[in-house]
Amino acid sequence: MDPERPLASWIGSDRLEDRVVPTLTLILRTPGCSWRRCRMCSYRHEQHGTLEEAERLVRGQLAWVENEHGGREYDYVKVFSSGSLLDPGEVPPPALDAIGDAFRGKTLLVESRPEFVDRERVAGLAARVDTGRSANPVQVAIGLETTNDMVREKSIDKGFSFSMYLNAVREARAAGARVKAYLLHKPLFLTESEALMDMERSITDVSPHADLISMNPCTVQRNTELERHWRQGAYRPPYLWSVLSILLGAQRHVSADPLGGGRRRGPHNCGACDREIVDAIRSYSLEADRSRLVEAMAIPCDCKREWEFVLEHERPYCLPLTR
Ligand code: SF4
Ligand SMILES: [Zn+2]
Repeated sequence: MDPERPLASWIGSDRLEDRVVPTLTLILRTPGCSWRRCRMCSYRHEQHGTLEEAERLVRGQLAWVENEHGGREYDYVKVFSSGSLLDPGEVPPPALDAIGDAFRGKTLLVESRPEFVDRERVAGLAARVDTGRSANPVQVAIGLETTNDMVREKSIDKGFSFSMYLNAVREARAAGARVKAYLLHKPLFLTESEALMDMERSITDVSPHADLISMNPCTVQRNTELERHWRQGAYRPPYLWSVLSILLGAQRHVSADPLGGGRRRGPHNCGACDREIVDAIRSYSLEADRSRLVEAMAIPCDCKREWEFVLEHERPYCLPLTR
């Protein structure tokens, strides 16, 4: 087995069952996403090998991870690909088994589109991971993005509905897994205020159907449709003030990782107050201490008035509903 390097792997910290624990995050090379259409996604360009080669490729990367991180302590493993770990057309069943075996005794998170969340597949994975240490050794993460089907279709082109997500939640929970919903804050074509309301609504609507919620403030990735609109001045990533406002208003803990925070391509304010706010959001995501958000919201920066003006005055373009 040739050890082959994953796209990325690192040990950091994450929140698990109300504790902050050392966490291994892994982004595996696979043949890639079967959908490849989402307007903001550059991961769809990551395609490595064929389905026939995928098992060897995954096993090689697991061997590399064992070499690299095997001696280190971590309780939680989050495994991503540039697609869906539960898609048998991307990760063949023996490769998924190998992932379960490699992380036996840990809590394992795998990300997938909802159509691939099948109770037998999830239960099979859980059986390999489970040593009795945790009541829910597997977490299934799904990029729901929004609970609004029209926004998901028109602004993202995600290709599934909220009801398909709900079915996936039933499947995952029937197999004893917990579910993490990823929500996308400010996809294309929404004003700042529409995006803020879409996220507030999505958090409320998905709450009964997600054990964990993570909000991703949108970043402009390269070679995407979103990037083309951004270059034409037709898109601006969300204000960090909006991110703070959503997290503060949520009735439960929602984590957020403002990737590219403070940069032009990422969620940003004016440049002067960004770093402090990004730090507060990251700290809140990990520690769940709301006072960090309250302090950040009170930072006296002039750009807050700009944000309030944008919320009040920005108007949407009109999108045709039909072709
Ligand atoms: S966001 Fe996910 S489902 Fe959409 S194209 Fe990217 S990898 Fe595929
Ligand atoms: Zn500012």
